[in-house]
Amino acid sequence: MPPLRLDFVQSASDVDQLPPSEAEITVVGRSNVGKSSLLNALAHRKKLAHVSNTPGRTRLLNMFEIPDVGSFVDLPGYGYAKAPAKMRASWQQMIEGYLLERDNLVMVMVLVDGVVGPTQLDVQMLDWLRAYEIPHQVVATKHDKVKSSLREKRKSEVAKKCDLEIGDVIWVSAEKGTNIEKLRGLIIRWLS
Ligand code: GDP
Repeated sequence: MPPLRLDFVQSASDVDQLPPSEAEITVVGRSNVGKSSLLNALAHRKKLAHVSNTPGRTRLLNMFEIPDVGSFVDLPGYGYAKAPAKMRASWQQMIEGYLLERDNLVMVMVLVDGVVGPTQLDVQMLDWLRAYEIPHQVVATKHDKVKSSLREKRKSEVAKKCDLEIGDVIWVSAEKGTNIEKLRGLIIRWLS
């Protein structure tokens, strides 16, 4: 499975400003979960996360095209503890607006930190997605950082906290490439 081609389309502060797409996937997760690293691994280049990390764009919806397949929207990371309440509320509104109103959203990848485990915010996000019946897939990051002797235990803990079975969670490592090809294949499948 070759790297995904992700061509930057545009940034927006509101879902209404994005051009329509035929099929779209998105990714959510708290800041520092390993999202940029994962996106770079999927696309096998630095440019994508660079675009999303450009100052000012980290708090916007960043849309990319996967040529001939569909589109991808990078959502801002949640859970900046230091952000003022008013700012947090506006991000929440933007993210929820996108997730509720985006037509043709076929999958939300929910990243959880494999080392830290699902946080309260991650669990809230999952509950919220379930309540609105929005299709989602939990992806646990930083597989290589979990000691191999602890992996099986950690996998069952992460699944349990997400209220899922072990096999429902995809474990990835951007660092070692673990399951990156598998995730690329799933993304193509979700979009087609
Ligand atoms: P973001 O804030 O969600 O975009 O997170 P980053 O991609 O910037 O990653 C946060 C930190 O976790 C960085 O120090 C990364 O090097 C580290 N990290 C991300 N993915 C992995 C991984 O698969 N393995 C290891 N060992 N570290 C990772």
